Amino acid sequence: MRRPGRTSRPTPGVFLSSRSEPRHAAGRRSVKCRAMTDLAAALHRIFGFEDFRPGQEAVVRDVLAGKDVLALMPTGGGKSLCFQLPAVLKPGLSIVVSPLIALMQDQVRLLEDNGVAATYINSTLRSDEIQRRLAAAMRGEYKLIYLAPERLLLGEFLEGPLQRLSVDPGISAFVIDEAHCVSEWGHDFRPEYRQLSTLRRRYPQIPLLAFTATATARVRVDIAAQLALRDPARHLSSFNRPNLFYRVRPKSKGTYTELLAQARAGGAGIVYCLSRRRVEELATQLQGDGIAALPYHAGLDAAIRRDNQEAFIRDNAQVMVATIAFGMGINKPDVRWVSHYDLPRSLEGYYQESGRAGRDGDPAQCTLYFGLGDIRTAEFLIQQKLDPDSGDPLEDEQRIARQQLRQVLSYAESTECRRAIQLRYFDETFQGPCGACDNCCEPRTQRDCTVESKQLLSCIARLAQRSERFGAAHIIDILRGSRSERIVSRGHDTLSVYGIGSKWRVPEWRDLIRALLHQGLVAETQDGYPVLLLNAASWEVLRDQRTVRISEAPAKAPAKGRAALPTSSLGASVEGRELFETLRALRKRLADAQGMPPYVIFHDATLREIAERRPVTLGEFAGIRGVGEAKLARYGEEFVAVVREHAS
Ligand SMILES: [Zn+2]
Repeated sequence: MRRPGRTSRPTPGVFLSSRSEPRHAAGRRSVKCRAMTDLAAALHRIFGFEDFRPGQEAVVRDVLAGKDVLALMPTGGGKSLCFQLPAVLKPGLSIVVSPLIALMQDQVRLLEDNGVAATYINSTLRSDEIQRRLAAAMRGEYKLIYLAPERLLLGEFLEGPLQRLSVDPGISAFVIDEAHCVSEWGHDFRPEYRQLSTLRRRYPQIPLLAFTATATARVRVDIAAQLALRDPARHLSSFNRPNLFYRVRPKSKGTYTELLAQARAGGAGIVYCLSRRRVEELATQLQGDGIAALPYHAGLDAAIRRDNQEAFIRDNAQVMVATIAFGMGINKPDVRWVSHYDLPRSLEGYYQESGRAGRDGDPAQCTLYFGLGDIRTAEFLIQQKLDPDSGDPLEDEQRIARQQLRQVLSYAESTECRRAIQLRYFDETFQGPCGACDNCCEPRTQRDCTVESKQLLSCIARLAQRSERFGAAHIIDILRGSRSERIVSRGHDTLSVYGIGSKWRVPEWRDLIRALLHQGLVAETQDGYPVLLLNAASWEVLRDQRTVRISEAPAKAPAKGRAALPTSSLGASVEGRELFETLRALRKRLADAQGMPPYVIFHDATLREIAERRPVTLGEFAGIRGVGEAKLARYGEEFVAVVREHAS
């Protein structure tokens, strides 16, 4: 092992920054060209990729140049490679701070399978194992070590192992993964992240690299300040995930049938629900319909949670029905669909949760189900935000939660490109149409509902004249001329508005009420028993001072072809499809034998390419995307054998 200098600069002349000065342009061109070739060669040798994904190369070059970096890359954008490749190429050791144990272990498994010497140190290990790994690190046997911030910042760790590692083999960089955790303005603040600036004070010469998949402008400023980044190279990748198809569906009696059809179409999927009870119910119902579904929520025993998560990651279960407790730190790249059975709490939450689909870049579906009841549930939960001591409402928290809810509702109700709305949240301008959301692909028409709105509002007004107030269900009953006991006994069948809305079915009225609430044209009490009330805007409608337009939901579920799995690129070839399934089975067998998830071996895209190109020699196999030297040596023979057998 070569002994690096303390500052861990990239090897001179091999990996230069891409920025060349005009004066030396001619002389440098050949060097730059060689540097690019070397970088491309390393990318191919280690990770088996022919080229970088968008945005990756610029980050890699800045890291190699020894700069501080602040990089925002969306989930699935290949963020990890941006520090892993330089870590391998630079002398010394890169220390990666990661808040999530599962994520650390996963990344280390992936690196090891690519032949990169990496390890992690966390609370799951016994102390003698930790000592063994640290000793190996000091002998220079690793290129990357993953650590939780709590451990790294322990006084004894800072003074002891870290200090020794900084001398020998030398630390090439501190990588702060999930750097948004440093900011109170982020959605996942972790106080211990604040103390990471200690690293800058103690080791001013070692580059700090901050990576995150989520950050608004405010959080970005906070990250740079809190970590004391020094004139960092800033890389803002687009948050756009072009392979995800977004749609919003009205929640109705048919919702479960749609969900079941989605599951039956195949591919790993996650269903998010708000409550533990709903999680259990849905998981049981799906199981009853023959789907390998498992529940996941904070109320389950830790061992069961771990088993269920592992079953999902290893493709032993197809569907995870979960509360939002599930997903953080899970890096399953081949999730093909994520459905929200209940409203997410915020637009950022929705982006993150739905973003767990399609990390491998293959097409994936994100569906949000949304009904009138969801608004009530969300409001009820907001009202539960109380001071534990005094029982008074936590006004700031409630206000923020209501603002976030309004953003989610706007997203759900909008007729605009879903992608454009999400990206605007991250201060990104996106000119639709995107061609991959329901609003772009099947634009909803707006219809004038002023007459019906006036009927509804009049009904509320008539009841108010009698000092009576009722919720949506009762008012719809009056409008539709119900003969129910509740209506007749109160004499509501004698109101002038009784039965004037019988042409509409209940769901249509509910949709209208939802839209009116969202547009602020009617109010609802929020004391736990939702009663409809008129407000100033309602009177404008009643006095013909404004009209009401609502967007119509598409009548039927989207055509089945839309949910087509990416394997369809194998075309109509039954043979290709068969080979793909055989390769999948081989991958699963190899993964199970090593006790790891199948995706660690190869992504689906790699298997598909094998099924299409059918390499029958190791040389041909080496040309498949995702096959680096280590994987070629480890798996080449068996995969090539399967292809040959299939051909004969
Ligand atoms: Zn769109």
